[in-house]
Amino acid sequence: MRVGVLGGGQLGQMLALAGRRLGVETRFLAPDPHAPAGMCAELVVADYENEAARAHFVEGIDAVTYEFESIPIDAVKAIAELAVVRPPVLALETAQDRALEKQCFERLGIPTPRSVAANSLTEARAGLGMIGLPAVLKTRRLGYDGKGQAVIRERSDLERAWVTVAGAPSLLERFVSFSRELSIIAVRSVAGDVEFYPLVENHHSDGILRFSVAPARNVPSALQTRAEQYARTILEDLDYVGVLAIEFFETPDGLLANEMAPRVHNTGHWTIEGADTSQFENHLRAVTGMELGSTEVHGVCGMVNVIGQEPNVASLREIPGVHVHMYGKTPAPRRKLGHITVTANDFDAMRGAVAQVRSVLARR
Ligand code: AMP
Repeated sequence: MRVGVLGGGQLGQMLALAGRRLGVETRFLAPDPHAPAGMCAELVVADYENEAARAHFVEGIDAVTYEFESIPIDAVKAIAELAVVRPPVLALETAQDRALEKQCFERLGIPTPRSVAANSLTEARAGLGMIGLPAVLKTRRLGYDGKGQAVIRERSDLERAWVTVAGAPSLLERFVSFSRELSIIAVRSVAGDVEFYPLVENHHSDGILRFSVAPARNVPSALQTRAEQYARTILEDLDYVGVLAIEFFETPDGLLANEMAPRVHNTGHWTIEGADTSQFENHLRAVTGMELGSTEVHGVCGMVNVIGQEPNVASLREIPGVHVHMYGKTPAPRRKLGHITVTANDFDAMRGAVAQVRSVLARR
């Protein structure tokens, strides 16, 4: 089996590594000659718009998937004329635009923060009247890791927020005072079988995921069931194949869906060591038409992202239960360079090891 992957970042690199263990070859298409996936698999270096490169990329490929959302949708549609694309192009198109994503949640009865589209400052002003304060202004497209968004606490913040989004078509959203952020990773096979991983608790700062705990603590079975029900609804509605991640805000009124990603996800990295089958393997299983692997979880995991600077890997390795994943990227501020997963038998042991990881990361 051979899978073509659009994008070539660390998610692709981990897909390639999972593919090797599964006997699935991967080939990547990305414009960056130093794309991390290229260290582990064949990389076709070209723009997504390059028709000749696309034809070469799909040669001998059983299915095409993506590890990155911001791929020009017309390029993906052109590839779908040449090869099977999974997850469906509509899922990618929906996730690329926050307004379409919200409409999808609303259409399927999945609670989500109140929002209104704003294509101009005048519309944003009118929208603020409907949404109320506090609010968040987010670009509809190309926003990730907190980029292209601004919190509005007072009406006078709106002009500054409009500058932050550079006047791009945006979404004005009610700012939610949540108790915590949770996410679910789900996967659906070609045959329509669905598996879920347990809800994960995520800690962001400055818009970037810093730390996840898996499984999340204090999750009543009704909450897990509810998250699974929302995920299943989306998977079935879109006739989806592959891994889907949904991020939620937990509030006193229940879960509110923030966004979804039609791909493997940073909040599922822990599954490499923490579950019978990782999200990466299950994604490849799904898109190649195989049966899904067990998502059973053993113990507790903590996942710490390595951001901005190279850590002292030798010191990290000395900490019990620590698994180091470095992606081979050039350090830059806010860039995700790797992640550390700590596996432990219980939460306290995990927390102790994570504290040691953090102190090594702070030392460099
Ligand atoms: P996003 O790019 O939508 O995932 O937003 C990045 C982070 O900003 C989220 O993980 C939250 O921590 C925060 N955030 C986004 N939208 C809201 C909101 N409506 N209310 C409160 N916090 C938000």
